[in-house]
Amino acid sequence: MKSSKRLVLILGDQLDLKSAALKDFNVQTDEVLMVESKHEAQYVWSHQAKIALFLSAMRHFAQSLRDLNYPITYIQNTSLSIVEALKEKIQKDNITHLICLEPGEWRLKQEIEGLAKELQLQLDMRDDDHFYCSHQEFLDWASGKKELRLEYFYRLMRKTHQILVDADGNPEGGQWNFDQDNRKPYPKKGPGIIDDPVLFEPDAVTQEVIAYVSQTYAKHPGSLEAFRWPVTRDQALEALHYFVEYRLRNFGVYQDAMWTDTPYGWHSILSSSLNLKLLNPREVIAAVIDAWKKYSLDLSTVEGFIRQILGWREFVRGMYYLDMPKMAQDNYYEHQRALPKWYWSGKTNMACMKDAIGQTMKYGYAHHIQRLMVTGNFALLAEILPSAVCDWYLAVYVDAIEWVELPNTAGMALFANGGRFTSKPYIASGAYIKRMSNYCDSCKYKPDVRFGETACPVTTLYWNFLIKHRAQFDASPRTRLMTANLKRISDDDQKLIVQHAQHVLAHLDDL
Ligand code: FAD
Ligand code: SF4
Repeated sequence: MKSSKRLVLILGDQLDLKSAALKDFNVQTDEVLMVESKHEAQYVWSHQAKIALFLSAMRHFAQSLRDLNYPITYIQNTSLSIVEALKEKIQKDNITHLICLEPGEWRLKQEIEGLAKELQLQLDMRDDDHFYCSHQEFLDWASGKKELRLEYFYRLMRKTHQILVDADGNPEGGQWNFDQDNRKPYPKKGPGIIDDPVLFEPDAVTQEVIAYVSQTYAKHPGSLEAFRWPVTRDQALEALHYFVEYRLRNFGVYQDAMWTDTPYGWHSILSSSLNLKLLNPREVIAAVIDAWKKYSLDLSTVEGFIRQILGWREFVRGMYYLDMPKMAQDNYYEHQRALPKWYWSGKTNMACMKDAIGQTMKYGYAHHIQRLMVTGNFALLAEILPSAVCDWYLAVYVDAIEWVELPNTAGMALFANGGRFTSKPYIASGAYIKRMSNYCDSCKYKPDVRFGETACPVTTLYWNFLIKHRAQFDASPRTRLMTANLKRISDDDQKLIVQHAQHVLAHLDDL
């Protein structure tokens, strides 16, 4: 006999008791299903800290549901995929009605919809209200536009949600964007004292997860020793509170700065809590605005931070659902090279890559400029196959979920979609890394040397890229200036750059 029970599927990145999936939950008749699937941790070669974060947060969340007397089936340690486990449960209990929040990942959404069709289920897939902009609103904004640019979307979000605008809809401070004020390197002497982000000692649940992950996923990349991530809503709120109290003030100005052994800088470290839905972006923005008023913080820092959440985060999500599944296959430059092996260890002579990848392996974290202008820039210049690069980003960052990772990697860092939402490839030579960090001081290579034994590989590959794609760069006013600089390099030197670049590209693993 068919059951009248409704099953509510909660995924590992949907950990909110106020979730739309639970809003009409009936503890007498409904049941929650959560699945710890080994398949999900393995389909990309995930960092151990990323697996531990998801599992610990899920187990804590399941416990809060139990404390509220929600009936719950929690499947642990299964080799089935989430959808296979779901199918088994539905068939075993003769369930006809499935409720869930729209998954962040396109693949999972297709699979759940496919399962519902196959089993003739009544599927109630609800909008994820942890975002300001619904898919339909994004579609409406994007339709008919020749150019999809963050800036115009962001202004619309500011006006629609009345954030940093006056009563007439004009931007606070007379400007929409204070990006120019937010690009400073640290002082020459170094970043000075940075208030550490709040870190959380693993409790008994997390310790058990850490022991399980280190045994079950022993061969996976990354380490668990430094695991201090927020795994509950209370911890995430504490992290938010701490950030706005102590670290927001310098977020803006040093947003792009990098320094050896300074893994977090002044960044918020809130992405994993936001992406697991331990935090709602609305409360994050409200807390930032409160702190701005309370402490008379610089508008540029507050606007800079809000742009990341209300602008970029919403924008990339909109783009992801607009362009999937094509986005995952795009390869504008037809790059085919394999990812250098040291992306998985940080064992390279390039000081910038060593630091960015080293901290990634240790914490599962690197900040935006490290991801975009160090590891991402290099992957583009070294002509790595975009899907291999995307798999790496999806694997190694604790905040990595495909809806946010893929557009950032394929779209922003790799220009794999040919500039669908960026006006030019984000590429830079060693000179940029030298300006924004101290990495070059301790490096075997020299950032201003373009070819030869001491040449910086980033610099060699940068000029090689410009020479190779000169026609494309010359054709656009946004990039013409970059190729104009080639005129200052003699033809002979350009030949030597290309020659050296061929050598570098053939020996990427040895850098
Ligand atoms: P902060 O610098 O303090 O920023 C505040 C918040 O703004 C972040 O927590 C995040 O929620 C949001 N944000 C900032 N930049 C972006 C952006 N470009 N897109 C979306 N949201 C943004 N972010 C992820 O959450 N998951 C990913 O898998 C991911 N992959 C990335 C891959 C590449 C190649 C690049 C260039 C960026 C990626 N980002 C990703 C965006 C960004 O780097 C991270 O959100 C940020 O570094 C997280 O650290 P934080 O919380 O300290 O962020
Ligand atoms: Fe990186 Fe080049 Fe600087 Fe070395 S010299 S740290 S490889 S940019």
